[in-house]
Amino acid sequence: MKLYELTLHEAHGRLKRGDISSRELTGAVLDRIGNLNGDIGAYITVDRAGALAAADAADARIASGDVVPLTGIPLAVKDLMCTEGLKTTCASKILEDFVPPYDAAVVEKLKAQGAVIVGKTNMDEFAMGSSNEHSAFGPTRNPWDRSRIPGGSSGGSAAAVAADMCIAALGSDTGGSIRQPASHCGVAGLKPTYGRVSRYGLVAFASSLDQIGPIAKDVRDCALMMNAIAGHDPRDSTSVPRNAPDYTAALKEDLAGLRVGIPKEYIEQEGLHPDVSRAIRSAVSTIEGLGAEAVTVSLPHVRYVVAAYYVIAPSEASSNLARYDGVKYGFRNTSGDDLLAMYRNTRSEGFGPEVQRRIIIGTYCLSAGYYEAYYGKASQVRTRIREDFENALTTCDAILSPVAPTPAFPIGEKVDDPLTMYLSDIFTLSANLAGIPGMSVPCGFSGEGLPIGLQIMGRHFDEETLLRVAHAFQCATDFHTSRPTL
Ligand code: GLN
Repeated sequence: MKLYELTLHEAHGRLKRGDISSRELTGAVLDRIGNLNGDIGAYITVDRAGALAAADAADARIASGDVVPLTGIPLAVKDLMCTEGLKTTCASKILEDFVPPYDAAVVEKLKAQGAVIVGKTNMDEFAMGSSNEHSAFGPTRNPWDRSRIPGGSSGGSAAAVAADMCIAALGSDTGGSIRQPASHCGVAGLKPTYGRVSRYGLVAFASSLDQIGPIAKDVRDCALMMNAIAGHDPRDSTSVPRNAPDYTAALKEDLAGLRVGIPKEYIEQEGLHPDVSRAIRSAVSTIEGLGAEAVTVSLPHVRYVVAAYYVIAPSEASSNLARYDGVKYGFRNTSGDDLLAMYRNTRSEGFGPEVQRRIIIGTYCLSAGYYEAYYGKASQVRTRIREDFENALTTCDAILSPVAPTPAFPIGEKVDDPLTMYLSDIFTLSANLAGIPGMSVPCGFSGEGLPIGLQIMGRHFDEETLLRVAHAFQCATDFHTSRPTL
């Protein structure tokens, strides 16, 4: 077994025993990145020197007997979390040369554990997209089939984990951006409850929906990453003052006494690929075989989820992205002869087409006279959706569904058809609108050999039940151990 193939918990065991050094492990991962990144496009920035220095520091720390689960582990961070002294582009021309003066809270936490940050991963520009094709620096390719998308917007993080170009990664999820790429790349991903992980230093897309979480090779690794990043942070006013548990304690092998809900609206969803439907049905039987009882639940308002999300997210985005004006930081086009022309030229040239589309939609929805009809109405629908989930979760402990309606689609297939692209989020948007946690775990392969993910959603702050179901499922199956041939 090659060192870069190790899971986080395996690598931790070897580092702790002194079988390997972080320098060796980090070197192996950096070489792997060197061999594959040209093809896969998972990273925008690779910090070789910084990573090797961090690895040496970790080795010194380990030698002194001070080793926690992330010490010396090479990790990747999506390129919208601020890293002090290391470029953070959000895959946008407008932030092409932006070097943050501080670390995001999650990055501080990784560094405090002695983790090694190898680089910043590719993504859809400002996290807007489901395919990673909306990156100003070129697409990421799916390691399972390089003619296909890896999912988005955390496509670079998911592809890097799947291709062993890091041991684990951080992504962010506003409407599915951790779960959907994890599903398409055959790895595990967890979007925590809104407020569970600090957003301090996360470049904002839609502030009431954004949440950071792990993408990893298995469920135990997700739990270890959660242990490192969860918890209250006074610098993020939406971060909830509540202690984070030890997530690894939730990892049990059976599901006795647990009830899982199967939403009838999702099973009847038109456009669901037959291979996805088959994989989900078989996953539900496996979960029943582990002792859980499956019940049918109803989420009557989820049919409005795409409409509500694509008002709320663009509205918040249009407001958040107003700061990129060519004055404070980032790219500036100076060709015009007055201030207004400078703003217009900077934003027209600095933002890609999808980001401009969202800003235009959002500005319209928030404009005087329309605010109540659009943002106001969408917020009411959001409340109904949250209530649907809260009601369903009184009769079951977790809800199971597909993550994406189809396996990964070919690059170019949907890029000119935004509405079809938006429909790829149909199963993931609800968890963000409801604020509940959601997870993707590998549960099968399509006829063409593409990974399929099972989504597990649960009550607010009950990531533990998600991890428990996902871990038990992994103990009974081996989908998560398959890797693409590269
Ligand atoms: N695909 C969704 C969008 O385009 C969600 C993106 C995300 O979660 N960041 O908005």
